Amino acid sequence: MQTVGADTAEARLASRLTKPEGTVVSVGGAHFGGDDIVVVAGPCTVESPEQLLDTALAVRRCGASMLRGGAFKPRTSPYAFQGLREEGVKLLGEVGREVGLPVVTEVMDSTHVDIVAAHADMLQVGSRSMHQTTLLEAVGRSGKPVLLKRGMSATVEEWLLAAEYILAAGNERVVLCERGIRTFETATRNTLDLAAVAWVKARSHLPVIVDPSHGTGHWDMVSSMSRGSIAVGADGLLIEVHADPESALCDGPQSLRPEVFDKLMADIAPVAHAVGRHVSAMMSTHRW
Ligand code: PEP
Ligand code: MN
Repeated sequence: MQTVGADTAEARLASRLTKPEGTVVSVGGAHFGGDDIVVVAGPCTVESPEQLLDTALAVRRCGASMLRGGAFKPRTSPYAFQGLREEGVKLLGEVGREVGLPVVTEVMDSTHVDIVAAHADMLQVGSRSMHQTTLLEAVGRSGKPVLLKRGMSATVEEWLLAAEYILAAGNERVVLCERGIRTFETATRNTLDLAAVAWVKARSHLPVIVDPSHGTGHWDMVSSMSRGSIAVGADGLLIEVHADPESALCDGPQSLRPEVFDKLMADIAPVAHAVGRHVSAMMSTHRW
């Protein structure tokens, strides 16, 4: 039988050579790496209580199983909106509880881990921070589930070694997220590397999800790339949804209106079925 995995020798804790069976990372009722496809959705950025609640209710109604929203925002320009920071993290936690969804948000600095961990169910390490080893160690020590995005210029090997820092700190609850890489192509914001998903899934036991929002930069491509992601074996999706994308303070062009997200959820179901999976939805009688 042909085998794979020798090329991940350095990332020994993340490798299937060490642990052949897939790891399931549970965050509330969402189980990454299990039979179901986990859809995490919400705005790029927490902007206000109304904006967040409107969007959270919509994604919940459409069947998402987790809510996302940035509060500590890593912006390219220092003049761009930097997020509501601590206030935003608290708001995300409150709205998550209100709608009954676990929440994930980015932590940019090791000094912020405690405050973010106090309100979020899962800590996101962003693309720009993937190489920050002190942050990786800090989220590792936190014991919270971690969503580790691929650095925009990181090889898959470097990405797995970043995961290895978290695992080596004693935290096994790591979910990887492919979010596109920098290439010569400018038609899309990044080049979504679905080959990386297949490569990592074969060599690592960690769950892998895909972010087709940052991966393409175009709202009209998000559904097709979501279907492609599930077809190649992704365990879930991270999708930016905004109740009113035109007014979004960040990433409006790649954010889906709730009705477009609703259609996406319907469109991915047969693809999930074709690869022997289901799209999990939080079942609740909450609010509607
Ligand atoms: C995000 O998901 O909020 C984000 C900033 O993405 P990335 O780190 O992939 O750019
Ligand atoms: Mn964004």
